[in-house]
Amino acid sequence: MKTLITNGTVVTASEAFRADVLVEGEHISAVGASLDVVADKMIDATGRYVLPGGIDVHTHLDMPYRDTTSADDFESGTIAAAFGGTTCVIDFATQFRGQTLHQARDAWMKKAEGKAVIDYGFHMIVTELGAAVEREMDDLVREGITSFKVFMAYPGSLMLDDGSIFRALENSGRNGATICVHAEDGVVIDALVRDALAAGHTAPRYHALTRPSTAEGDATRRAIALAEMAHAPIYIVHVSAAEALDAIHEARKRGLPVFGETCPQYLFLSDEHYEAPGFEGAKYVMSPPLRSKDAQAHLWRGLASGDLQVIATDHCPFTMKQKAMGSDDFSKIPNGAPGIETRMSLVYDGGVRTGRISLNRFVDLTATSPAKMFGLFPRKGTIAPGSDADIVVFDPQKRMTLSAKTHHMRVDYNPYEGREVAGVADTVLSHGRVIVEKGRFVGRAGSGIFLRRSARSV
Ligand SMILES: [Zn+2]
Repeated sequence: MKTLITNGTVVTASEAFRADVLVEGEHISAVGASLDVVADKMIDATGRYVLPGGIDVHTHLDMPYRDTTSADDFESGTIAAAFGGTTCVIDFATQFRGQTLHQARDAWMKKAEGKAVIDYGFHMIVTELGAAVEREMDDLVREGITSFKVFMAYPGSLMLDDGSIFRALENSGRNGATICVHAEDGVVIDALVRDALAAGHTAPRYHALTRPSTAEGDATRRAIALAEMAHAPIYIVHVSAAEALDAIHEARKRGLPVFGETCPQYLFLSDEHYEAPGFEGAKYVMSPPLRSKDAQAHLWRGLASGDLQVIATDHCPFTMKQKAMGSDDFSKIPNGAPGIETRMSLVYDGGVRTGRISLNRFVDLTATSPAKMFGLFPRKGTIAPGSDADIVVFDPQKRMTLSAKTHHMRVDYNPYEGREVAGVADTVLSHGRVIVEKGRFVGRAGSGIFLRRSARSV
């Protein structure tokens, strides 16, 4: 099977040029001006960009929370991703206490198999660490799970103590894995939450008021110090606070291998949403919480300067019915919001069109740099001969209004409801197969494969 994409502008992290792209089987076989080939399928990309498929390295599909799970499973979540121009996800598998890492890996493999419509990998969340788990971390790296996540928040369930985080970092320094950290001072936050509830403050807005940006900045500094002592790189997930970005900036200035990710919600939404009437603010209950408008400008500078390398989503949707678990206690509202489908259009519209970042930087932040950071480059994250044919034909002029009425995520609200964006994924290929065309999903559940990733290449 040969597919020829003609007359588009191919955009990579470093170049943009008019070229045709030839896909043979699952891979890109040629990129060049006016390729003279007879193909089985022709895609005319005149006036459009031909981008490497987006890579979202922070998703929580089918994730257990108390007696429910996040609303998108690997089928609905990856279909929504594909509509938005994302062709690869790295989801978080969780070692629940009492489990081995391999049990957790097997559980997540089962969730994805037969369902995912795009390729996927896993980071492993480590919630208990000892000699046996450290050996398992070495094994998992050989088996293609080359990144782990540790929590400095959620004491009593997910949080690891500093000594264990230090050990995990040392381990990754030896075996080439990357440690991802959720950096918020969980113990202090828990005290603030107890104080708020004792004072009768139960509304969603108190979720944000009990997770101050100082708690994120402080934990980020501590995480960086632990990594420095362990002589290991570190990747800070969902940076939202100016204080956290400052900590990353200072560490990088000293030459430390410290990396950071932010998400569209922290770039486009602010804490004003918690003032919404009634229980509406619950839509925005996520951790870290939305911050001030000033913090947004700071994050954009971090993206432009290179202190932040990745834009992911932290996609973790819960319906309003699920959110209602916390209707009389904000601390019981499931944390998370949908975003897997809207990332590429939001960042293009609000980043490239406004001049905050270049077109190449957009590709870098949403595809190339995530691929490099998590051991997928150059197989994914670029348009080049030999790479997987994960390709998005992206129409920069086409407009779309974001809404729960039209999105494909299995959740009854959209955090950006009514926002008009320009820049829409038009045709999407995964492994050389067209999976989204003319606004329709034409792929197949289970066609995505598990990606064995290599160690970090940046
Ligand atoms: Zn997350």
